[in-house]
Amino acid sequence: MVDMLWLERKYLSQIVSLVEMGKWKNDNTLNHRCPYCGDSQKNLYKARGFHFTVGQNFVYKCHNCGKSTSSVNFLKDHFPVIHREYIKEWLQESGKKPRTKKTRSANDFKFTPRKELLNMKRIDLTAVCFPANEKEVARDFLNSRSIPESKIQDLWFVPHAQTLGLLSDKYKDRVLGDDPRIVIPFFDESGELVGISGRAINDSPLRYLTMRFLDDVPLIYNLNNVDTTKTVFVTEGPIDSLFLPNAIAVGGSDFKKIDDSKFKENGILIFDNEPRNKQINSKIADAINDGWTVCIWDDRRVAPYKDINDMVMGGISTEDVTKIILENAHQGLSAKVKFQEWKKV
Ligand SMILES: [Zn+2]
Repeated sequence: MVDMLWLERKYLSQIVSLVEMGKWKNDNTLNHRCPYCGDSQKNLYKARGFHFTVGQNFVYKCHNCGKSTSSVNFLKDHFPVIHREYIKEWLQESGKKPRTKKTRSANDFKFTPRKELLNMKRIDLTAVCFPANEKEVARDFLNSRSIPESKIQDLWFVPHAQTLGLLSDKYKDRVLGDDPRIVIPFFDESGELVGISGRAINDSPLRYLTMRFLDDVPLIYNLNNVDTTKTVFVTEGPIDSLFLPNAIAVGGSDFKKIDDSKFKENGILIFDNEPRNKQINSKIADAINDGWTVCIWDDRRVAPYKDINDMVMGGISTEDVTKIILENAHQGLSAKVKFQEWKKV
């Protein structure tokens, strides 16, 4: 029998981003929400439809409604255009002499062409962590912090932080502890995973665990997605950045690690709202002197809150927070004046 598994895999890869919660579990297992039954209505993260291999074909089975069919039929039912393309190529390939077919390796279409899955380090992450939205404790924690649903899908979870040691030889003998952590990945501009920050979701005294896989690369959250031609919101904490459009985070208060040439023109540095913090104040003063645009939190509504996450949890909408930042973004002399009025020490 002719091995055409690679061809089915190729066409299944085309639907990964089209189905809900689509994800290759491994080369031979594609998982997503079942479009036949709609999967769980109560839980939008339940995904019980699976394509897997039986012999030289992929078959589809839903563990919710029990629907079972060939994956080619699945394509026909839900993606008729892709199905037609599949049939065309299948006919072409079947018409070829077996010898020429052998030159096509199954590895050609091992993974979906989606950018993030071509990134080997992201695959490491999927091997070591759970998607945060698939684990109840993680999802509950993120929901309790009002993290937008659309951002939760970029976050991961480990029940035991020690497992993270598998991500890099550098950490394989380190003690990373046993705390359950939300894993916030840091990618460089090319999409390579350069580090992670693990936020404990228990009462661990070590709230954040930071790991760097490359020594001389600064950890800046969302550097791989940001558009520098538009306003870039630059926060201290990665979690705060999740509430803003086109945002990056420096993971601390060291904004000096941001590349001047890329971000000075359109960046707004958003320090936490701590007018009594001398150290932060001296950093704000430096940033203003260096010519950066900074947010001076001069708005009554945000006075009780020390960071963006607190503001959102306090009931200020993300749209309003964004607006308040834009209204309070200052540069040069006006920044100096506003800063003097605002700071309390
Ligand atoms: Zn189903």
